[in-house]
Amino acid sequence: MSESPNERRSLTPAVHSGEPARFAHDSLTLPIIQTATYTFANTAELVAYMQGQREREEYGRYGNPTVRVLEERIAALELAEDAVVFSSGMAAITSAILALVGQGAHVVLFNDCYRRTRQFVTSFLARYGVRHTLVPSADLTALEAAIEPDTKLVISEAPTNPYLAVVDLPRLAEICKERRVKSLIDSTFATPVNLTPVELGIDLVVHSATKYLSGHNDVLAGAVAGKAGLVSLVRDVRHMMGAVCDPHAAYLVHRGIKTLALRVAHQNASTQAIAEVLEKHPKVARVWYPGLASHPSHETARSIMRGFGGVVTFEVKGDLASTGRFIDALKIPRIAPSLGGVESLVEQPALMSYFELSTEAREKIGIRDTLVRYAVGIEDPRDLIDDLLRGLTLAGIPD
Ligand code: PLP
Repeated sequence: MSESPNERRSLTPAVHSGEPARFAHDSLTLPIIQTATYTFANTAELVAYMQGQREREEYGRYGNPTVRVLEERIAALELAEDAVVFSSGMAAITSAILALVGQGAHVVLFNDCYRRTRQFVTSFLARYGVRHTLVPSADLTALEAAIEPDTKLVISEAPTNPYLAVVDLPRLAEICKERRVKSLIDSTFATPVNLTPVELGIDLVVHSATKYLSGHNDVLAGAVAGKAGLVSLVRDVRHMMGAVCDPHAAYLVHRGIKTLALRVAHQNASTQAIAEVLEKHPKVARVWYPGLASHPSHETARSIMRGFGGVVTFEVKGDLASTGRFIDALKIPRIAPSLGGVESLVEQPALMSYFELSTEAREKIGIRDTLVRYAVGIEDPRDLIDDLLRGLTLAGIPD
């Protein structure tokens, strides 16, 4: 690659890539081809297709022209040879993993991987004879030690949830190449605006397109991008498991991507401003944001990312109840899981993903009752900051 990861790159492909010169009926926008199957004019056309003389669609589970344009757009943004799109982020992740591991294989995961990804490997695949090792967040020494002769795949997220750790991806890619292991990075929190893992040597990138790529909290979808040969293996899994992206959903993701660069640039700037205000606030115990010099991954993030993303995590002073009062006092963000949309969302992880655990059990895995995850939308950052400052005062959080 001629461009270093930190240089600005043109995001014009977000608006134009993957499209033919003209759509059907001269439509400016992507047509939604709503069909389950595709017709052949006659037997000769069918035979020509079967003999590989004609490239065309055959059946909805194997492909759809609306979905295909989205796939090419995502591949262009990820600087990847190809991409394949799914019905959800989890469908994308599980299909990518299934394409790369089989019985007797060993997988290494960083312990701060998305909870359902971790469960898929540690519980679900364990039933089918896939072994795993969990290594501490962003710890490459532990990763090297964990790789065994049967290791087929290393999985990480960048940045991770909720503490936004950023692993040194070029070094991770190097280790995986030396040991002939495939690497898979969930880049949902980063987006291709901020990070392009394939450019850094990573084999496969996955996204919950439900988040920033679609960007409007109105659709579920997922994507896998990488070298054409690997993506083809993942596509074959989709052909069998059937987790296809509906053409309407693909249209929505495609439309969302047109504004991805604008949204993410705004969210990067707003979140940096919010993190800086929170870090100085006497009622806030600690802030995690890779754009802050105090974040353990700040230097790595600076070296591989073009922006630090739209999620900030912080601990307020107080307890479970006062943290809940603070969240309830906020007027702009809605309480909901998810991130990456135009609307700001806030959650107290202790009461969302970790509700079933006791305070002590949560503490053991590093989730305090006073932890807040704030996914910044595209509202005016001054309004978001005023709202946060008012909420901290109203909730009776101690200094
Ligand atoms: N990866 C990350 C980092 C996520 O945050 C999520 C969902 O929250 C997923 C994957 C799963 O995506 P989906 O909900 O689209 O299946």
